[in-house]
Amino acid sequence: MAVAAFIGLGANLGDRGAALQQALASLAALPQTQVRQVSSLYRSAPVDADGPDYLNAVAELATGLSPTALLQALQAIEAAAGRERLYRNAPRTLDLDILLYGDESIATPTLAVPHPRMGERAFVLLPLSEIAPVRVTPGQLAAVADQRIERTDTLLWPVAGASR
Ligand code: ATP
Ligand code: CA
Ligand code: CA
Repeated sequence: MAVAAFIGLGANLGDRGAALQQALASLAALPQTQVRQVSSLYRSAPVDADGPDYLNAVAELATGLSPTALLQALQAIEAAAGRERLYRNAPRTLDLDILLYGDESIATPTLAVPHPRMGERAFVLLPLSEIAPVRVTPGQLAAVADQRIERTDTLLWPVAGASR
């Protein structure tokens, strides 16, 4: 049975747009997985960190992978993009977070879903509300209204040449 999973994508080092597009193509190539929707591309200031602006987006997958298998797949895609974990909130070439996995609540040492900090982050809530308005409340959007973020006109998806 396929589950709707929402993935937060972010990058603030290197060719950020290319990293996000490559990540989407890699998500689409996962077993038992389709990319259903992708938000607009957003540009946001780093939160609690320094470094260049982030590019962010949120994608909806339909996946038959378990939450653990999906997390492992995301970490393999991050590693392939040259992700290093230097210190907390360090600049990164690619970050892929599981925001929502169906309606499940998961709390293990390595996986927390819904993502515990998504409600504080405009760079998650704005793109998520674009593709899944029922998953975001007006109160949540109001709470992050002071964060600097802008929607761009760049089309991330479909990637030229990628099969859907
Ligand atoms: P944040 O979680 O605040 O966005 P981060 O993305 O920078 O911070 P990472 O260094 O990418 O944090 O991940 C640290 C660990 O978080 C991962 O090794 C993973 O086990 C764990 N983790 C827990 N819940 C999730 C989730 N929903 N999605 C992705 N990773 C998660
Ligand atoms: Ca993150
Ligand atoms: Ca992460």
